[in-house]
Amino acid sequence: MAVMDIVHYGDAILRKKCKPVKQFNGIERLLDDMFDTMYEADGIGLAANQVGLNLHLFIIDISHTEEVEEPFIFINGEIVGSEGECDYDEGCLSIPGVTLNVTRPESIDFKYQSQNGEWSRKTFSGLAARAIQHEIDHLNGVFIVDRIQEIDKMFIQSELKDIEAQSKEESKTRQTLTRYNF
Ligand SMILES: [Zn+2]
Repeated sequence: MAVMDIVHYGDAILRKKCKPVKQFNGIERLLDDMFDTMYEADGIGLAANQVGLNLHLFIIDISHTEEVEEPFIFINGEIVGSEGECDYDEGCLSIPGVTLNVTRPESIDFKYQSQNGEWSRKTFSGLAARAIQHEIDHLNGVFIVDRIQEIDKMFIQSELKDIEAQSKEESKTRQTLTRYNF
């Protein structure tokens, strides 16, 4: 088990569009560590760039809600359709202490690869659809703060500044993740 450092708002890697995963060998170790990291932080979703890796993959575990039983692993995922609209209060492990009401499609048609490289296509709704869209945003360099009105952003400006300053400090000491050899 290895808990990784979570990268916070202000770090350049969280503004990058992540690269597709091409090499699936040895990916389990990274996924295991990402799950450890997400559970340790009490999160329900975690994208690879949130632990400093430029890779198009993320994990979700909403099994506590009884909507689904198993945690999800989504690699090279793409939203290929969406329907409806709803509001929901979202938090983010990279923006600790900030919760924002975000409007998104209610259900999505999503295609993705498993850790074995197999493609699937499924429709997700409810919290699963919400979490997938949040993580896909991360892999495109987008935050929940980009999805709210400018006027609402004013209310969290000082929190964001603090997180950004802390994030700059963290990036100075962050070690390169060399243990994942793919
Ligand atoms: Zn997030």
